[in-house]
Amino acid sequence: MISDRFPRLRVAHLPTPLEPLDRLSALLGGPRIWIKRDDCTGLATGGNKVRKLEFLLADALRAKADVVITTGAVQSNHVRQTAAFCAKLGLELVALLEDRGANDPTFKRSGNLFLDRLFAAQTRIVPAGTDMRALSTTTAEELRAAGRRPYVIPTGGSNSIGALGYVEAAAELLDQAAAMNLTIDEIVHPTGSGGTQAGLLLGLAARKHLVPVLGVSVGKPRQELEAIVLAIAQETAANALPEVTVDPQTVHVDSDYVGDGYGLPTEAMAEAVKLVARCEGLLLDPVYTGKAMAGLIARIRAGRHAASRNIVFWHTGGSAGLFAYPAALGLTAEAEETGTAALGAP
Ligand SMILES: *Cc1c(COP(=O)(O)O)cnc(C)c1O
Repeated sequence: MISDRFPRLRVAHLPTPLEPLDRLSALLGGPRIWIKRDDCTGLATGGNKVRKLEFLLADALRAKADVVITTGAVQSNHVRQTAAFCAKLGLELVALLEDRGANDPTFKRSGNLFLDRLFAAQTRIVPAGTDMRALSTTTAEELRAAGRRPYVIPTGGSNSIGALGYVEAAAELLDQAAAMNLTIDEIVHPTGSGGTQAGLLLGLAARKHLVPVLGVSVGKPRQELEAIVLAIAQETAANALPEVTVDPQTVHVDSDYVGDGYGLPTEAMAEAVKLVARCEGLLLDPVYTGKAMAGLIARIRAGRHAASRNIVFWHTGGSAGLFAYPAALGLTAEAEETGTAALGAP
């Protein structure tokens, strides 16, 4: 097992549930959709970063760090989960936040950023386009010069240590499906900085159980992101599982549902978030899972998934971000009525 060789802090509530979305599946009239509830990993409203941080922050403690530096967008879920995890460990967090995403007045007061501040992270907002990697390097140098021991976690926790969380998650899903006698035909999930997809692909390859994985991009174009996912998967394999290879042919990203860019709402996202809320009582988010679900819905409507199949939608969390985007879903009293009718929500 990987966790025998790499230190891991067990904080996440695992295994996360695997549940059928019966009403959504029936409404779409296509394959049976299942949901892997990584929005229920348990730390500060949950999400996929907790799995990565179990390995990353264990490594930070091993390195005897006394302060953590990480980067993300203003409404980063990764930063919020890192802030909560650091609070639990008594570690200081310096959060460098790039000013990108929606241009909404509540954006810099609400949602994840509000929670970062609740967890007493030091938040520094810098202009869009800042070289965040360079900024974390110089910030670490400054802290070192001041006698501190900083540990830098890249955006999204996506490196060969963070990805181990999803190598283990792939095994968790396969075990769960086996116990339920369920054959999974495909996994669909949002992909951003690539660590989740890289870990899943490596974890599936390690078990020689190559369920197709589709990452729905929330920002980067397909080819660029496929190259990033492959590079993280290969680096993680080299560090942790040198006997396993990830075939580049298994790396699939669809970047057709990004819209105008990372964190910018799309109509299909708003439709998907409302539809899933109204027929399953389930929260998605505007930046990641809403766009990925919009992609899955569009693909099912286009007949790209046979009705006999079982598709797992990996819910990677993010619903805290909903509160930073009140306008994106158009939920004024008037829009509410027409919106519901247009959806044909049950
Ligand atoms: C970070 C994040 C993702 C993307 O995961 P990556 O490993 O960065 O690709 C997906 N969904 C949510 C809610 C996230 O916060």
